[in-house]
Amino acid sequence: MIELPDVERMIDTIAGYTTGKTISCVLLDDVDVVELDMELVEEQFEGQAIDAVERHGRYVVLRFRSDYSMLFDMGDDGLLRLESQTAPATERTKIRLQFAAGRELRFSSSGSEGVVKAVRTDEKSASGALRRLGIDPLSEELTPDRFSELASRASRLTLKGFLMNEKIIAGIGNDYADEICFQAGLRPDEKVVNILPEQLHRVHRYLRRVLRRATLHWTAAHADPGWLINSKGLGGPCPRCRHELTSVRITGRKTILCTRCQRAA
Ligand SMILES: [Zn+2]
Repeated sequence: MIELPDVERMIDTIAGYTTGKTISCVLLDDVDVVELDMELVEEQFEGQAIDAVERHGRYVVLRFRSDYSMLFDMGDDGLLRLESQTAPATERTKIRLQFAAGRELRFSSSGSEGVVKAVRTDEKSASGALRRLGIDPLSEELTPDRFSELASRASRLTLKGFLMNEKIIAGIGNDYADEICFQAGLRPDEKVVNILPEQLHRVHRYLRRVLRRATLHWTAAHADPGWLINSKGLGGPCPRCRHELTSVRITGRKTILCTRCQRAA
């Protein structure tokens, strides 16, 4: 599953090359999934320069110097990557934005509907998918108080369900939700209503710490033997106490935890 730090890394890789460059040609490889009509593409995207590449939760927005922006839903496995125009498209390729110099920005995913859309730039923040998104977990606005306030409105959810609810906090997926609960020492299936204020502050602190580290120092974070993410991928024991990890399902998602290190509230 694509997570916020993965999207940040993707943007880092493509933004330097694409920002300020003009798209010479747009190829729609999967018209069932890409919700763009050719007339709009010709008017609004071809011959236009990309102004900025932005992230909103797990969505990516290419802002153009025209009336429209292009919105990509990264879903579970979306990938935006620069390729040579001579590299053949695959069955996962949805759209290719070509530059004059022989390279292209290619979007691939296994998504089956509406993964690429045009949104009016002046209404971007109000456009459908983005309007429903909650606060970005790396935003400065997500203070401990704001986090506690959001939790008080989600008291019936489990801690993991709360962290992964995109309408409340946008962009935390399965792996990082497990990591945050592990680092904070709380069971992911604990109901939010039972969590004490100081425990919520601890969850907030680790939410920021885990996501910042994974975003800014991805390689080091993904080699840290103290992280659950790295141990569970290898089927290993708890990185802290060496007890065998437990697998349960919470809100339909496979969840890994250590029943010794992670306690009920
Ligand atoms: Zn443990």
